[in-house]
Formats: sequence, structure tokens, C-alpha cells
Amino acid sequence: MQEELETAIGLLNASRRVVVFSGAGLSRASGIPTYRDADGLWMQQNAIQFSHAEDLARDPAGFTKFWGQRLAVIEEAAPNAGHRALAALQRLRPATRLITQNVDGLLTQAGCMDVLELHGNLRRWRCDRCGNRHGPWPFHRCLRCGGHARPDVVMFGEMLNPGVLMDAQEASVDCDLFVLVGSTAVVYPAADLPVAAMAHGAALITLNMEPIAHLDDRARVVLRGASEVLLPLMVEGLKGV
Ligand SMILES: [Zn+2]
Repeated sequence: MQEELETAIGLLNASRRVVVFSGAGLSRASGIPTYRDADGLWMQQNAIQFSHAEDLARDPAGFTKFWGQRLAVIEEAAPNAGHRALAALQRLRPATRLITQNVDGLLTQAGCMDVLELHGNLRRWRCDRCGNRHGPWPFHRCLRCGGHARPDVVMFGEMLNPGVLMDAQEASVDCDLFVLVGSTAVVYPAADLPVAAMAHGAALITLNMEPIAHLDDRARVVLRGASEVLLPLMVEGLKGV
């Protein structure tokens, strides 16, 4: 692993524009469960029930309870050493762009700037009917129209925010190093962005607990392990230069 780590640090040092794409693995050490292995039986049973925007109309109370509990988990969580390492990287290399699938807002809380949140942010809520973003959410009706609140996250069957997606695509094709952290990059657009980056000449580093079958063999460096351990080691290496 030491050799891989040194190669990764060398790539970081040689790169001018870095993109770090993160998924659920980055926030695991902060105690945020992934969508599919949500904590507790009630949450597991209801994850499927309330993953579509239409579920709000079908069962407003259940929908609000489910997403309110997910929000409570996130609000109790704190950034971990992986988030903080990425904030430090961005301070050292301001051109670094951060793209994430996570809706927990922990990168921003750690001090990261201009995070491209592909799936939105669970800390932001809006009225499902009129779009009003002023609370008090989530357990209250909209003060303007009486509609229900929903989190500003991309639910199953919904489109990604086109502006965020375009920024992520542009950053990916413009970078010279793409670091994939804590994501197996199976779903769109996670699956496409590292491929687009490599097609435009970027080197790829994968950093994940599990193998990434379709990308590891194309990566310049494969780091297998916890992001809260490996990211600080990478960024500390950068400081030494
Ligand atoms: Zn409203």
C-alpha cells in the first residue's frame, strides 16, 4: 500500500486540476448509513416506501417522518478526517473541484467550497407544491400555500439538477487527475464521469473499501481502504512539497 500511496501523492503533486468524486464511503466514518442499509428496522422497511417524490402525496405523514429521521441522523453527524483532508486539499489547490453523491452536506461543513452535490442536500427543504424554500421545515405545512415540505434531494425517477450535472461534466473533462472516493461508480452519472475524464487524458485514482470491477483495471493507482485514513495521508504528502 505504501508504494501505491506514494504514487498517488506523486500524481497529486504533478496535477494542476484535480477532481475528487465522493460517494457514501466518504461519510461512513461519520455514522451516515447508506441509502440501502439505512439504520433500524423501520427505516429499512420504509426506505423503499418513501424513495419517490410521489410518495409524499400517497402518505405525507410517513414520508415526512422518514425524511425527517434521515435529516436527524445527518444533523447529529460531524465531518470526519476524510472530509477535512479534502477541505485542506482545496485550500492548497484552489482549482480542485469536489463532486459528491452524498446529500449530507458534510464536505461544506468541513470547509469545502463550491461542492457539486449531484443528488442535492438533505438539509435544504422546499414546498412540494409552490417551491417555497422558507421553513419552518420539515414537520410543518407551507406558510404560503399549505403544501407539504420535501427535502431538496434527487429521488428515484427524478432528473439531476442540469446545472450541477453540467458543471460536474465540465470539471471532469477539464481535470488532469480524477480521484474516485468511496463510491463504486455504478449509477449514472458516477459511472460516466471518470470515464469521460480518462477519455480527455486524466489519470484515475480509485480509493474504496471494495474493488471497483469496471474501473480499477483502468486506474493508475488503486487504493484499497478507508477514506478517512487514506485521504489525510495523501494530502499530508502534498504539504511536504
Ligand atoms: Zn407552498
